[in-house]
Amino acid sequence: MDTTASGINDGGDTPLRVAIVGSGPGGFYAAEALLASGLAVEVDLIERLPVPYGLVRFGVAPDHAKLKSVTAVFAQIAQDPRLRFFGNVSLGRDVSAAELARMYHAVIVATGADGDRKLGIDGEALAGVHAARDFVGWYNGAPDCAALEFDLSHEVAVVVGQGNVAIDVCRILARPVDALRRTDIAQHALDALAASRVRHIHLVGRRGPVQAKFTPKELRELGTLPGWQPLVDPAALELNPASAAELALPACAQAAKNVDILRAFAARPREAERAIQLHFLHAPAALHGDARVRGITLDTQRLAGPPGAQTAEADGGRVSLDCGLVLRSVGYRGSALPGLPFDARAGVLPNDAGRLTGAAGSPLPGWYVTGWIKRGPGGVIGTNRADSVETVDTLLRDVASLRGDKPGRRALRAALEQRGHRVIDLAGWLAIERAERARGEALDKPMDKFVRIDDMLAAAAGRADAACGLRPSAPA
Ligand code: NAP
Repeated sequence: MDTTASGINDGGDTPLRVAIVGSGPGGFYAAEALLASGLAVEVDLIERLPVPYGLVRFGVAPDHAKLKSVTAVFAQIAQDPRLRFFGNVSLGRDVSAAELARMYHAVIVATGADGDRKLGIDGEALAGVHAARDFVGWYNGAPDCAALEFDLSHEVAVVVGQGNVAIDVCRILARPVDALRRTDIAQHALDALAASRVRHIHLVGRRGPVQAKFTPKELRELGTLPGWQPLVDPAALELNPASAAELALPACAQAAKNVDILRAFAARPREAERAIQLHFLHAPAALHGDARVRGITLDTQRLAGPPGAQTAEADGGRVSLDCGLVLRSVGYRGSALPGLPFDARAGVLPNDAGRLTGAAGSPLPGWYVTGWIKRGPGGVIGTNRADSVETVDTLLRDVASLRGDKPGRRALRAALEQRGHRVIDLAGWLAIERAERARGEALDKPMDKFVRIDDMLAAAAGRADAACGLRPSAPA
């Protein structure tokens, strides 16, 4: 690799200065790859919130603590002296894309998928119809979702979509609150769930059991919730020939396990009073209600197309379900960022192996992208590692062309200071975490998260007393 033409790493003292926007898994894995590249680098991790970890903090379910243990790896990466954390800094609000381009040799965008897909049916705007993403953010203490209210006073809830997020929200609705009390679930959610009257959840998928997107481990867990039982109509597991053929495809090994688990669910005699009822081949057609949602109409479906590519189409049948809460869990979606190209159809930043592309597919020099905003909202946390390695490899191949003097963090800090903007650095982030752990200790939880940005900022300043009635913690 010829890095000399750029003046970067040519034996002089100019490191490669890279800003990464977004500190979820994609951002941290990109930082890790840059720090391990062997080049002299300065990596600045810019995060909209005062705390890092994106969907690991605000997406992973509180009863899946093991999945969150990856934060220990990320926290270690953040200790590298070549990395700086710029928390509470939002691209577009506090610093523009054009400014970052002037400050850094390269910018990697890792902002994830912060929106959600809609159903596009009548009644979707009724009170009581929510994005599963908002429900997830609410129980995980995301500041954007903390003030939301979910009416859990009706006995029947409907969850639309059959991926792992749909399973997560069913499980949190159904899990006895005593089993959630010692997790990092937001206190407001715990209180609301403790008073929940929900006792029947319809989990609705438009395609068949073979095409469901959830993974076997998550599906199996639905059968372990005390007082609850998954219900499956055995007739719904009779497969059409294409689905039977699909099960034999190497790519569908997971689906075969799912079908085995579903068959076991279907064979279980009814024991529990409360139920999660799985419906296949039912697509939402309309939502009904007056001020709030009272029911959903589903069009029954048949599958068409070859094994591995079957789509659902209406077969003329229709059913209705009464309900008081609808969570649509039909996929997340990335959002456009001011000053950058956006593929509105796919909800991603257009890119070629991580190189951000503009009109006619031509690369935007110095701009890169990784994670869900690069490839769309799919895969597990670890998937982002290979994805970020690909992006950083692409960036490193371009190093020779990333010319020019770039001031990097010095200029970013100066610009933010000049605007009077409060940046949360590593010490501030760690102070917030310490205060959250201290709050949690009192409740026998691993941590009690702040759900308001002002409280995070107060804790970062050592004013945990102002935010939570605790004595200030020692500086980091
Ligand atoms: P997903 O896996 O893509 O599932 C989306 C579901 O929505 C699919 O069942 C899809 O059906 C359905 N859908 C889409 N549009 C629809 C429409 N108009 N009407 C009815 N149904 C519709 O997405 P996700 O559940 O949001 O999960 C995102 C990613 O995070 C996944 O990779 C997931 O595995 C991962 N995740 C992992 C965990 C874990 O490891 N425990 C937990 C949560 C999330 P079709 O297939 O017919 O399109």
